[in-house]
Amino acid sequence: MEEFPDLPREVFFKEDLLRLGLSLGDALRAGGAAPKTDGAAQQPYQEKSYFIFSFDRTPITEMSHQENLRAPEEIALTGGPFLLRRTIVSVRLNPESPYLLGRDDDGFALWLDGQLIARVDLPPRPAYYGKTLESGKPVVEIAPVIEWGYLIYLTAFRRCQYVGTDQECRFCDINPNFDQQRAAGRVYTTVKDVDEVMEALDLIAASDTRAKAYTLTGGSVTSQLRGQSESEFYLRYAQAIEARYPGRWIGKAVMQAMPAEQLRPFREAGIKIYHPNYEVWDEKLFAWLCPGKSSYIGRQTWIDRILDAREVFGAANVIPNFVGGVEMARPHGFTDVEQAIRSTGAGLEFFMSQGITPRFTTWCPEPLSNLGLQEPAPLEYHLRLLQTYRDTLARHRLAPPPGYGASGAGNAVFSVSAFMDVLPAREITVAKS
Ligand code: SF4
Repeated sequence: MEEFPDLPREVFFKEDLLRLGLSLGDALRAGGAAPKTDGAAQQPYQEKSYFIFSFDRTPITEMSHQENLRAPEEIALTGGPFLLRRTIVSVRLNPESPYLLGRDDDGFALWLDGQLIARVDLPPRPAYYGKTLESGKPVVEIAPVIEWGYLIYLTAFRRCQYVGTDQECRFCDINPNFDQQRAAGRVYTTVKDVDEVMEALDLIAASDTRAKAYTLTGGSVTSQLRGQSESEFYLRYAQAIEARYPGRWIGKAVMQAMPAEQLRPFREAGIKIYHPNYEVWDEKLFAWLCPGKSSYIGRQTWIDRILDAREVFGAANVIPNFVGGVEMARPHGFTDVEQAIRSTGAGLEFFMSQGITPRFTTWCPEPLSNLGLQEPAPLEYHLRLLQTYRDTLARHRLAPPPGYGASGAGNAVFSVSAFMDVLPAREITVAKS
């Protein structure tokens, strides 16, 4: 904190928790002194839904206390010796982590190597989480929420057609996570029917006021899925949602980089924000880390399509994701923080100079991904990345990206990176394209 006096103190813990994960104390483990349930809910708090990837630093088979069934989706840090403002952090499980989420006489709290860091609130469990669809599937499987209830996360296709070491993005465990969730007995739907998504959204719409956005996402389709191309497949969901609930939530779509003509129907259907996730800026690392994207579409075409998408959605509403820290993955990533920051900083400069605001997901090495269990990028890297992001955005006079709720320490709800926590406090609305 002395070395980075310009960063809010909250982001040190948020980024460190995202890269290292946390372990669960007795109160949150199976067989431990768990808090009482209300009789209707499985847990009295919102449990981790495994909304797309595992985002854990250990496989389920090595969770000796069934932590995968008991972990909360997110935690809110407050107070403690550092007087933290409310900070929402996604839960990534790691029984070996120096961070412990446990309970004392005053409630839940977070410790680092035995030192109290902050008090903790667990996310309230939405009423509809206890409901099931006519098919018997839990609503939470079809339409979980994250970001403290702000974002409905619709993973329409739980697998990816990039399969194997020569295609799958090396940091991604979507396919092995699918297999481990099924093996662990979780209801996990390969392809969600449009009708079951709509049935789940009906239940949400009937009782919820917290969700402000939805993300339509899933794995890539390289050939066809149920007889449709990737854009045709995801478009049906967008059209159904926006026909029944026009504009009720901010519609966001995560897909590969598509030509503009394939994107226009999404804009016409009512989708406001497009995420053609770019993952890593460096040319050689893109080829190594994203071999499928690299060979099927290619880096330059990917970049060109990101820029072309501005005409469809408006520059501010085209938001490619970077996996923050993966450029330091072994064995081919940068070994020097300075070089890694310079590379990603160049990518931010390139996109922001053209009006596009990328965003981050903090990389935590998932053991079932191709990169396997390895050390994450150093905390120093993540802190410097936050500085670089904040300063590049300011230099180009850009607003925080829309569709993530409010920005600023104490306000941000985006839970898988602290990039919104370091930006000036403001409410975000979606600009017209
Ligand atoms: S395209 Fe890459 S990151 Fe996306 S789901 Fe497939 S393997 Fe994972």
